Amino acid sequence: MPKVDLLIKGGEVIDPASKTRGKLDVAVSQGRIAAIGPDLPLDAASQVDATGKLVVPGLIDLHTHLGFELHTVVLDPDDVCPPAGVTAAVDMGSTGAFTFPWYRERVLSRTLVRLFPFINIASIGAIAIHTPYYVDNYGRYIDVRDTVRMIQENRQYIRGIKVFATDKMVGEWALMAVRAARQVGDEVGLPVAVHVSALPPPLEEILDLLHEGDILTHSFTPHDQGILDARGQIRPSVREARQRGVFFDLGHGAGSFAYHVARKALEQDFLPDTISTDLYYANVDQPVKDLPTTLSKFLNLGLSLEETLARATCNPARLIGENTLGVLQVGGPADIALLTLQQGEFSYVDCVQQTLTGPWKLECAMTIARGKIIYPREGWS
Ligand SMILES: [Zn+2]
Repeated sequence: MPKVDLLIKGGEVIDPASKTRGKLDVAVSQGRIAAIGPDLPLDAASQVDATGKLVVPGLIDLHTHLGFELHTVVLDPDDVCPPAGVTAAVDMGSTGAFTFPWYRERVLSRTLVRLFPFINIASIGAIAIHTPYYVDNYGRYIDVRDTVRMIQENRQYIRGIKVFATDKMVGEWALMAVRAARQVGDEVGLPVAVHVSALPPPLEEILDLLHEGDILTHSFTPHDQGILDARGQIRPSVREARQRGVFFDLGHGAGSFAYHVARKALEQDFLPDTISTDLYYANVDQPVKDLPTTLSKFLNLGLSLEETLARATCNPARLIGENTLGVLQVGGPADIALLTLQQGEFSYVDCVQQTLTGPWKLECAMTIARGKIIYPREGWS
């Protein structure tokens, strides 16, 4: 075995992908996991005492808006990810074909955490989002050929196509935009991720355009493009979409997660495939805060620890085609989070000002990315 750089000792390893749970040590060498086992008798350059902590795969947030220097909604990935145990995140369409080359050079080349962008079907990305200008002109920035070319030139970075599928955000362009995203997705063989919230267009017309591997985000939105019908039942079109392999992502956001929707869905065994934050500047203080807080909400809604963690580790990894991430395996990348699971009485607010009180609170204690401790760091405040 190569020299061990870091030994994580005495924690409770939980790896949902391999159904591993137990008191195990994890050895890290040259950015990779060198060994996982009980009481590893290894001499290591440095050692972390993980007693009382959960040792889990680095968390993966499938829906965020991360970057910098871009006049849009983004947060700095290196500010928000390491303190949250997040070692990889999808930027959901902050850039489009006009802005992606800049993003690749300025952002992707220098972050501590791994970023996997979905490109917006509008070439302008999310610049000027939430302005009347954006609503009126979204569709004018859709150029299928240009977007296909940008993806083909950047296959190693771009993992999908993001589209806003609500007239509220993109005026009359929503369905045309989803069709264009579908066309690009088919040409390049990447998933389409659709944002839903308010009518129109009807959810059915959007779902009709989604295929296996595509993603519907904001699954538990309280708005009327939601997954429940008027009687609170999961819409047949939603069940059919899941049946044919469409994935349902949480995408908490500022207005897209309501406990009353979540409870109805969970009662009908409709769990989200991935639990993500949709983190951007307007929701980071309230109601989202971070991914461990979003995961805590699901623990308090009744999901098990394994069910919850799978939705922020191996499940999102699979959706972006990164099967060595989101798992703890010997030889794999040493992206690891140490979490504490506190028991007490904790309150959490959703997007419609409802409060959930429950016994669980997950918090990040340490984050390791590519074998290096990125939280806490020297000088971190
Ligand atoms: Zn978003």
